[in-house]
Amino acid sequence: MSESSVRVCAVITEETIDAARAAIKRAASVADMIEVRLDYLIDFDFGDNADAHTSASLHIVRTLVSDSSVPVIITFRSPSEGGHRQVDDDVRLRLLAAATQFAGYCDVEAAHYEQLLRFSPDTGRLIVSYHDFSGMPADLDAIYERLTSLPAAVHKIVTHALKITDSLASFKLLARAHTDNRKLIALAMGEAGLMTRVLGPAFGSFLTYGSLGTGKESAAGQLSCDELINLYRVRRISRATSIAGIIGSPVGHSASPAMHNRAFAELNLDFVYLPFEAQDLARFFDRFILKATREIDWNLAGLSVTIPHKREVVSVLDEINETASKTGAVNTIVMKDDRLIGYNTDVQGAIEPLERVLPLAGARCAVIGAGGVARAVIYGLLERGARVQVFARSPEKARDLVDSFSVSVSPIDALESSDAEIVINATPIGMHGHSQGSSPVTKDSLRERRVAYDLVYNPIETRFLTDAREGGCTTISGLDMLVAQAALQFELWTGQPASIEVMRSAATAKIAERLTQE
Ligand code: NAP
Repeated sequence: MSESSVRVCAVITEETIDAARAAIKRAASVADMIEVRLDYLIDFDFGDNADAHTSASLHIVRTLVSDSSVPVIITFRSPSEGGHRQVDDDVRLRLLAAATQFAGYCDVEAAHYEQLLRFSPDTGRLIVSYHDFSGMPADLDAIYERLTSLPAAVHKIVTHALKITDSLASFKLLARAHTDNRKLIALAMGEAGLMTRVLGPAFGSFLTYGSLGTGKESAAGQLSCDELINLYRVRRISRATSIAGIIGSPVGHSASPAMHNRAFAELNLDFVYLPFEAQDLARFFDRFILKATREIDWNLAGLSVTIPHKREVVSVLDEINETASKTGAVNTIVMKDDRLIGYNTDVQGAIEPLERVLPLAGARCAVIGAGGVARAVIYGLLERGARVQVFARSPEKARDLVDSFSVSVSPIDALESSDAEIVINATPIGMHGHSQGSSPVTKDSLRERRVAYDLVYNPIETRFLTDAREGGCTTISGLDMLVAQAALQFELWTGQPASIEVMRSAATAKIAERLTQE
């Protein structure tokens, strides 16, 4: 498929032979290899395979292999290691051994290796695999040693990452295999193992697996071939690729990987952006980021920082810029000469869309909410000479805003009688999964203001915006801020302006996908 040494292996998990044949043809046009999971086929008659080489089932396997223009791995997984059909082991292994005569590779569990040898497989075509579906075994080195003592073309160790730091073990195994000059597939299943699937090949993994779409995955956390190839661009990732990503919790639904990766691709930049789901910030920094202690040797360019780490992260950085210092929050880190520098692009990202609509000096602004994003907006508005009133459900909790910025804070229902020309929603009200369809204020309180700006972007059209438009206001969606703050981050890392259109359409697609999935 490609000149890159990275192999993307499409996994076929169809339930019928006809569907598998069609999927193999589709997969061969996108992937570098194909794994056919025979244990998913419910209309496949395994027979008794007494004479494996002439059996009808072997004939079907041959047909499946010959349907592909790229090498095929035949896998017939035992239920004890995630297989979907209970078939007598002798029947299963005899077929697998026979298939080593014509398939690119056949994958057998290490636990059944000795039994497979009884059927004389071509060991030069074997992938011998080890799986732990429950987590990270403590003795991975011993497992590696036992596994690699079994003659095979490729060895494979698949674990399950329960937290992001578990991914490090896969990279360590790949480093060891590189030193030992062995072909190894090492990856960690689960969402927390995502980086092993994207970066694994660049760190020496023989291949990375991809599904043919949502619902077709053969393992937890498996990305699709489309995501691997077109979003993360795995084929061009090397050890020199600049790495960026978003650290926070939760980040699984973040639109940032889509926005940044599409924008990197647009400019053909050698960058990749990953979600880093991490609750323990200090541990993540020790093990992945800080030069002196990190356990992965990668070319880190920077990070986006999101909830809940925007304030806490300040203490682990070498330097922060003025805006980050004044707001007490960092949403962007740039790695420069091994120094970590913190920025806050939320401020400019929030203000830019407003400034495009009207001048802010002297403008009367009402900010609803007193949390993190409200702080960024208030700081930006005051910096541009706007007059700011804050409306919060618990004004007493907004004390530090009053102290930091000398703004007045009133209950939300007082907005109706305020003379604000610009009303900004900085609460989560109206957000999908929180209170979609609700607005933080009455429709009347939005009537005939000049501008209504909702920082909520999911959904893009909120009740607050609909009410405001019907009341005669110009409206701005939180999507504008989302894209603007991301574009500023992009520029800090790459030194080049991002394509706003590309980021916007990537974010819009991601938000729509999320709305339909949940
Ligand atoms: P935060 O720090 O948790 O602050 C949320 C604020 O909203 C607090 O003042 C909270 O009041 C108030 N609030 C929450 N539920 C409320 C309710 N039912 N009624 C009245 N007030 C309520 O969150 P944040 O980081 O500021 O983010 C707020 C929202 O902004 C997010 O949910 C997101 O939708 C949006 N956002 C958008 C962007 C963007 O790029 N467009 C960026 C960041 C955030 P209490 O203090 O009384 O709890």
